[in-house]
Amino acid sequence: MQFRKLKLTGFKSFVEPAELRIEPGLTGVVGPNGCGKSNLLEAIRWVMGENSPKSLRSGGMEDVIFAGTERRPPRDFAEVVLQAVDSEGEELDVTRRIERGAGSAYRVNGRDVRAKDVALTFADAATGAHSPALVSQGKIAQVIAAKPTERRMMLEEAAGIAGLHVRRKDAESK
Ligand code: ATP
Ligand code: MG
Repeated sequence: MQFRKLKLTGFKSFVEPAELRIEPGLTGVVGPNGCGKSNLLEAIRWVMGENSPKSLRSGGMEDVIFAGTERRPPRDFAEVVLQAVDSEGEELDVTRRIERGAGSAYRVNGRDVRAKDVALTFADAATGAHSPALVSQGKIAQVIAAKPTERRMMLEEAAGIAGLHVRRKDAESK
């Protein structure tokens, strides 16, 4: 799977609609402190289903919505669209939107889907919200310090078999 474009509206510091092209190969994000580099990575994780407050540096779900500044009022929703092309060359348009007081919802190619469907889509392609393809600050040190079992999980995700575990858990719970 290849990511092509990321669109953000009202997500954290990206209050105005912003569009970023993602070119093939390795992408680095550079800029001054506080300009939103980590927020971008978090937007990619969030649209792929991430909810962990730690990964999103948030207290509650709605903390990803632009909270306002001295000069700008807060927004009442945040939306992130990730455009990708899957391994079969099919275009994939994944949208996640959260509204204050109304929770978050997902759409794939314009159709409403469950969070689980989105998680599976990305887990199979080894590009999930916890994928080692996204390297955030401090992550390298974490890989070095990881316990063998944790490191195995990272490798499984990189190898694209993490989706099997999601399916197994799903089957076991039925
Ligand atoms: P560094 O180089 O220090 O790592 P960075 O480029 O990674 O910086 P981020 O951490 O992505 O910067 O962005 C931090 C900015 O995002 C802060 O100014 C913070 O106030 C703003 N921010 C985070 N969440 C929200 C929100 N919900 N509403 C408005 N602004 C937010
Ligand atoms: Mg940062």
